[in-house]
Order: sequence, then C-alpha cells, then structure tokens
Amino acid sequence: MTSVNSTIQQLSLTPVGDGADSGVCATDLVKSPWDLDTGLRSYGPGSSMDDVAPADTPQQGVIPEKYRNADDAELDARIRAAKETLGERLVVLGHFYQRDEVVQYADFIGDSFQLANQALNRERAEYIVFCGVHFMAETADILSQDHQQVILPNLAAGCSMADMADESSVEECWEQLEDLYGTEPDAAGRVPVIPVTYMNSSAALKSFVGRNGGIVCTSSNATSVLEWAFERGQRVLFFPDQHLGRNTAKAMGIPLEQMPLWSPAKPLGGNTAEELAEAKVLLWHGFCSVHRRFNTGQIDKARAEYPGVNVIVHPECPMEVVDAADSAGSTDFIQKAIAAATEPTTFAIGTEINMVNRLADQYPQHRIFCLDPVICPCSTMYRIHPGYLAWVLEELVAGRVVNQISVPETVASNARVALERMLAARP
Ligand code: SF4
Repeated sequence: MTSVNSTIQQLSLTPVGDGADSGVCATDLVKSPWDLDTGLRSYGPGSSMDDVAPADTPQQGVIPEKYRNADDAELDARIRAAKETLGERLVVLGHFYQRDEVVQYADFIGDSFQLANQALNRERAEYIVFCGVHFMAETADILSQDHQQVILPNLAAGCSMADMADESSVEECWEQLEDLYGTEPDAAGRVPVIPVTYMNSSAALKSFVGRNGGIVCTSSNATSVLEWAFERGQRVLFFPDQHLGRNTAKAMGIPLEQMPLWSPAKPLGGNTAEELAEAKVLLWHGFCSVHRRFNTGQIDKARAEYPGVNVIVHPECPMEVVDAADSAGSTDFIQKAIAAATEPTTFAIGTEINMVNRLADQYPQHRIFCLDPVICPCSTMYRIHPGYLAWVLEELVAGRVVNQISVPETVASNARVALERMLAARP
C-alpha cells in the first residue's frame, strides 16, 4: 500500500473540485512542508485547519536549503548515515499517527506513553528524537534522565487538542470551582474536586494537576484513573478532551446530566451554580480535530456495505460514534483487537489514517479500512517531514543540539508527581 503522503500527492495530480471531492480533507496538504512553515500561527492544513493556534505556539524556523532541495533518496541516505554514526547515542521514536516516510526510521513505534517509556529504557541514548508532537516530547523529557536530551524535528508540530486547555484558563476555572465548592473535604475525606488531565496536554497542565492533588490519564487507563479520583474526590474536572471524559464516565454509569461542559470563555463555564452542584465530571470544552470527523453515518454505511463488519473506534470520537461502534479503545487496544482475530475479518476503524493503513499492511488476512473515506492525517504530526529529521540528526553528528524540548524542573517535578500517580493507579 502506498503511504498517506504519496496518496495525497497522487490525488493532487487529478483534483476534482474542492478538497473533499478529491478525497483529501484539505487541498493545502499537497503543499511542500516548507510552505507550511511560513511563520503563520496555524496548525497547518488538514483536520485542524479551523482551530486557532495560541499566540505562544512554537514556530519552526527555516532550515538550510540543502534539506529543502534534497530529493527522497538523498534524505534517506543522509538520515541513515547520521543514524549509523550516532549509533546507541541516539534513539528515534515514531508515533502510531506519524507518516510512513518518517516512521521508517523509528527505532520504536507506539503511543505517546509507550514511547516515553521506551526513552526511559534506553539509558545509553543521549538523544531522543521524538517524531510525534510537542506534548509527547515534553512528557519524554519529564520522564527521561538528566543526561538525555529530547528533540522534536519540527517545533511547529503541536497538538490542537492540547492547546485547547491553556494553564491560565484552567487556573481561572479552578478559582471559580473553589469559590463554588469550597476547599474542605467531606465527611468521607473526599476533596470537592480532583483535576484529571489527559496525557494530551502541556507539561504546565500536568504540573497543575500534580500540585492540586490530581492525576494524568491515557486513553488506555482512563477508567482506573477516574476510579482513583472518585476515591479521593467528590467530582472530577477533566481536560482537555471532553469526548474521552464523557465516554469513560458514561461507561462507568455516570448520567450525562451530571457531566456539564465547561466552556472556558464563559462565567462558570456556561453553567448555572445549580447545575454545577449536581456535577460529577466537569468536561473541558476540548476535542481532537481528527477524531471529531467520525460520525454514525460512516458506521451505518460500513455496516450496510460489509455485513458482519467489526467497528472499532478511539474514545476521542464523539459519544454517538462510540455508542454505535462494536468497541472503543486506545491505539493499543485497536492494535491488539486486530492481532487477536483468528479468522479473516472486516474491520472498520475510527482513528488516524496513517495508523489504519499501517494495520491494513500488517494484517493482509483481514480487510481493514478507515471509517472516514476522506484522507485526513493528524495535520500537526504531518509537519514532520524527512527533511527536518535529516537536519536535526546531522546537527547532532556535528555536535549541535537543535529543537530541544526542555521542561523546566519547577514544572517537571509536579508533572512527574501526576504521572507517577497514574502509574500507581494502573490496574
Ligand atoms: S491526533 Fe488529535 S489529539 Fe492526537 S496529536 Fe493529532 S490533533 Fe492532537
């Protein structure tokens, strides 16, 4: 199967009407990576194009022409030579959603937490080149050892969902909640609110939850983390992803009326004090632009076309989609579900296209396709092109560390507390 990037490039040669008609969610995706890094504060073309990047979003400077002008073969030779020279001093990590042109150079492929753990286990690696997005590189830096440096090949590879909850809006929300609920524990010793942040959040927010008695969760362990939180608190403030929060809490039996949405721009998040009095889970108004694209119409279509199809979606998808699917779970869950199928099966998957295509390649005995027929990769991860990877690696060979992601220890120490609570809460 050809890679997502080559398919996008091929489609661009025969465009029909707008991006949706041509099978690509945004025609701008066909642009060269260098055109995307123009200094504009955007997430680049694609699924996240309508989200506004915050003013302090890191920007990628222009890299030398020799990388921008190099063809695929030259970049391949440069990357392989640099990797060879750096040997065990280097580890390259690739997220499941990363494009094949980059993932082919990864020493490990996984989700953000698996990759951070890989970094931990490679003690000899001085340089951890993280081919994912900004919050993932921050987590790797928080968990890494003092002698290790984490590098993000393109600084503009952020995450629109993570950026939807910034520290000052969360602090403001917290103050309002303290005014409303007070700070005293109840008779059972449970505090009024426990903050829970999804792994897909900035280090500053992980630090916030760490210093306020809270915890981090992943899409694999969200249920056990919420159980941990309810043992210690009367309610939970869950950010940034409303869908993961809602889907997890609903599966635990919490009624929707007790899960108000918190819109950061509005007083009391757009709720009345009475509504908040009943709340069990306050859901921050955040979402993943990639997973928000999935809908129940796509599931109906898949079921009509392929009777018996097994529909598996990621819990970042909207609740209606999760309810209509056969099962929902993390990238790890999806991968294991497919690996466990002993008979040839048709799978319709609701997650990022690069991962779905890779699974289809890996398991040719099954029919595996993405529920969304329009090719739309995670546009922020897409910003990492082999040219950037060649550049950071050759700089390392020359003894220069560029694009280092370094979380100040004042932030990292509390973030580590929140991550360690998560590890202890894991079943
Ligand atoms: S897939 Fe969604 S949540 Fe994941 S990095 Fe991309 S924008 Fe962020």
